[in-house]
Amino acid sequence: MKLKIPNTMTLFAALLAAEPLSAQGPAIDPRIVEVVQDVSPERLHEYLKTLSGFETRHSLSLSNRTDWGISPAREYILQTMQSFSDRLQVNFDCYQVEPQGRIAQQVELCNVVAVLPGRSDRRVYVSGHYDTVARRVDSGQFDWTRWDNAAPGANDDGSGTVLTMEVARVMAQSGLEFDATLVFVGFVAEEEGLVGASLHSAKAEREGWVIDAVFNNDIVGNTEGGTGIIDGRTVRVFSEDPMDSPSRQLARFIRRHAAVYMPGHEVRLIAREDRFGRGGDHTAFNRRGFAGVRFTESRENYSRQHEPEDTLGGVDFEYLAKNARVNAASVATIALAPPAPNVMDDRSPSLGRGESGYAASMSWEASRGATSYRVVWREAWTPEWQFGINVGNVTAYVLEDISIDDYVFGVMAIGPDGHESVVSAYTRAPRSRSDIREVGR
Ligand SMILES: [Zn+2]
Repeated sequence: MKLKIPNTMTLFAALLAAEPLSAQGPAIDPRIVEVVQDVSPERLHEYLKTLSGFETRHSLSLSNRTDWGISPAREYILQTMQSFSDRLQVNFDCYQVEPQGRIAQQVELCNVVAVLPGRSDRRVYVSGHYDTVARRVDSGQFDWTRWDNAAPGANDDGSGTVLTMEVARVMAQSGLEFDATLVFVGFVAEEEGLVGASLHSAKAEREGWVIDAVFNNDIVGNTEGGTGIIDGRTVRVFSEDPMDSPSRQLARFIRRHAAVYMPGHEVRLIAREDRFGRGGDHTAFNRRGFAGVRFTESRENYSRQHEPEDTLGGVDFEYLAKNARVNAASVATIALAPPAPNVMDDRSPSLGRGESGYAASMSWEASRGATSYRVVWREAWTPEWQFGINVGNVTAYVLEDISIDDYVFGVMAIGPDGHESVVSAYTRAPRSRSDIREVGR
């Protein structure tokens, strides 16, 4: 048997550089601080007052009226976003939909989509659903198809809609040139079964759009829960299984950046796609393989959801602004950073045991614009990335004497201004790799 002597100097340097990840940034960019601070509770209030003033935004409440229903509501969202900046390309994204499920008649459904072009085509979405519903109880039955009763939907999901509008404004007016193309969407017919988001994500798949992240905001403005407990300093972020799905890496990224840009406003990560028995538009994207998460307030009040009581008075605009700032910090960072590195070789992660047979040897494809990379890892029975090393501008790295069986590994790309990408994890068991076969089983 041939004995391999590790490069002692390299090994020593690596161990010295390994630190808890929490002690390694992320670097604060003063330009992002400015964007975050530009979010205005007063503007959020102004948009939401108008939106909830249309009485209902039920997806079937189309009309020629200018003061009632979904028609003037979508027109208002479109025109308001158009007024923010010439850089924002704002359009309706419409579909003819046949009767199905909760959609009782043929209808034209329109998402409102604002695109802020970046240097590249890769897309990052921020969304809320602007449609509403109020279940009218007739003879003890819920009826989701009634479109003529009051459904102001201030919190569900006027809050996510105006958050999306305000994040669009601060990004478009920031003067920053982003690498990613930012897309701000008010989705329609979420209440009829994620219809607007499903149609849009299907189009994305057909067109081959690269969507790196979806920040879906749904019910993000209420601080007083149904039990009377008030929580204005935390927000939940739901992400789909498994533990190292791209959606969950996005969730970790959001918490990591909220901790530096919004200290005092805690992001609670929930290792679930959504709440029990409930759904949201991020799921339409997850089903097509796109990473996406859902923001929702920590303390919900069910008596003010899907009811005529979901009014402006139930929304805390300081809290809503904080949630908008959490979105803005992460969206700006992800859009300024290089894309996450590709760590897959064909269909397996590029992870092996190295020449020694006892190392963690990993490689990745260079990310456009990256000037260095940070390798991260954690014990396999742990949700948070624990350790990291900035390994410089290389596309392979070996950690000696660390068993790939006992840890989960990942790598992030870092740009010239210190902006980090989302982590790409080496997730699938590398059973088919030749270097594993050589070691035996
Ligand atoms: Zn909703």
